[in-house]
Amino acid sequence: MDGLKPTVVWDVDDVLNDLMAAWLVHVWAPAHPDRPIALADVRANPPHQLLGIDRAAYHASLDAFRLGDGYAAMAPNPSILAWLEAKGERCHHVALTATAYRAAPSTAAWVLRHFGSWIRQFAFVPADRPGEVLPRFDADKGAWLSRLRAPAVLVDDGPANLAAAASAGAGAIRWPQPWNGGSGTPADALRELDTWLGEHGAA
Ligand SMILES: [Mg+2]
Repeated sequence: MDGLKPTVVWDVDDVLNDLMAAWLVHVWAPAHPDRPIALADVRANPPHQLLGIDRAAYHASLDAFRLGDGYAAMAPNPSILAWLEAKGERCHHVALTATAYRAAPSTAAWVLRHFGSWIRQFAFVPADRPGEVLPRFDADKGAWLSRLRAPAVLVDDGPANLAAAASAGAGAIRWPQPWNGGSGTPADALRELDTWLGEHGAA
């Protein structure tokens, strides 16, 4: 009878993991020692203009990283793991990422390896990539969320994703990152999640 327990819908990249930081350290810095950039200075995502490269080149590099050992070796976010261990059983959990189709299998494997005790479903809305034509089901994360029966809350670092979730009637909790204007901490975001769950029937 728990089918309508609320569902927490977790973004993957830069929420469950630290993809941008890992890409900067393992890909950008070694290739551009004369143009270092700190995570705190990444005020836009995608950051191609800050980096002085074109958007397609940035996505190609990021997707290649997603397919390699660097992505597989990323540590899970410790504050979210601790929250799940303490409180995760009171609701359902889904991972929802807007990643490239070719990166989805490695992302799914990473999520289930680290978070599979709680996150039992993995879904993705394919990100547009040049030359790739796929069946189109959901225009964005909001469209995906609108098909859930249970109350849902999206935890995401992307302002457009959060806006789409709110438009779909879901909760929306901003995971703080330099590019989204978030002034709070991960602990603040998790407290906000606790409050939302309390208001939506998850004791
Ligand atoms: Mg993200």
